[in-house]
Parts: sequence; C-alpha cells; structure tokens
Amino acid sequence: MARRILFLGPPGAGKGTQAAMLARALKVPHISTGAMLREAVAAGTDLGKRVESVMAAGDLVSDDLVVAIVDERLGAADARCGYLLDGFPRNVAQAMALNDAVVNAIGTVLLIEADTDELVSRLLGRAVAEGRADDNEATIRRRLEVYEQETAPLVEYYGDAVIRVDGMGSIEDVFSRMVLALAG
Ligand code: ADP
Repeated sequence: MARRILFLGPPGAGKGTQAAMLARALKVPHISTGAMLREAVAAGTDLGKRVESVMAAGDLVSDDLVVAIVDERLGAADARCGYLLDGFPRNVAQAMALNDAVVNAIGTVLLIEADTDELVSRLLGRAVAEGRADDNEATIRRRLEVYEQETAPLVEYYGDAVIRVDGMGSIEDVFSRMVLALAG
C-alpha cells in the first residue's frame, strides 16, 4: 500500500523529528524541503545562493523554486511506494501544485500542535544546540507569523484528511500518540 503522509504544524512543533522517526518505521523517504534548501545553501549551489537571504529572514522561498525541487524529488524511484512530506506545502498554491504533481492525492495529513511559548523556547534552544541561521528571536517571530498567515489555512484546505496530534511532551510521547492516531 502506498503511504503518502504530509506533516503540518508550526515551526518548533517537532515535525522534522517525528517525520524522521515515522519514515524509518514505515520505510519510506522523509522529504523535507527545509533540509533540502539548507543543503543547497551549505553547498553554495545557484539555488542555495538564491534562497539564503530569504530563509535567514524567515520568509518563504518562492513557490516555483520549491515546487520544482519537490516535483523532482517525488519523481525519484524511492518515492514510488510512498513518502513523508515535511515542510511542503507551505501555502495553498503549493498544495494545488502538489495535487498536479502526484497521481494519488495525499492520504493523511498529520498536524502537530504545541503552545506558542513552547515553540519559541524550543526554537531558541535549538539555536544554541544546532546553530541554525534562522533560529534567532526576530526570525522565529517572523516564521511563526508566516505560518499563521500562509500555512495554517491548509488545515481547512485538507479538511477531513487532517489528524491532529498534541506535540507537547517528550519526543517518545508524541511519537506514540502519533502512531496511535494513525492506527485509529
Ligand atoms: P521550520 O518549519 O522549522 O521553520 P523548515 O526547515 O521547514 O523550518 O524551513 C526552513 C525555511 O526554509 C523556511 O523558513 C523557508 O524559508 C524555507 N522553506 C522550507 N520549505 C518551504 C516551502 N515549502 N516553501 C517556501 N519556503 C520553504
């Protein structure tokens, strides 16, 4: 059975961590647009140079760039039997492009939620631990704002396909909650 799962949730909710764990369990690729873009920046490719300042400001990279990356990645052989998408789509236009790109629409949308105070403190903690260029206070505020304006409307867009998962608590607690929600 093909498994196509999409992760939604604000920055800091734990999407990346949970998506990586679930992808390992389901043996499907974890496709993170944020990670792919950060790799391009680190490698200094043309794409990386184009997106670096936009990402550092906490704004969204242009839809056509991101859609092209995802389109190419979904065409790879390992994505044929399913994938977890993390960080894409980020707005309704990207969601519509995704519908064009995949033959079978997304089956499940996991929405990971957490309190805003918790999100900010996790992101500030990660800034110290990982040194991500966009984990400083001003950019964090901007990313949360962009999430509310651009990405949160996708919850309504995906309607009944959305499964809400409480992202508060330990990584293991959230993972078990998510697996239970998927089974239920
Ligand atoms: P987070 O959700 O924790 O802020 P991500 O790793 O998903 O982080 O994304 C980091 C940055 O990469 C975003 O703030 C944005 O600039 C860019 N980005 C990632 N995915 C997309 C996308 N689908 N559309 C536009 N920009 C994106």
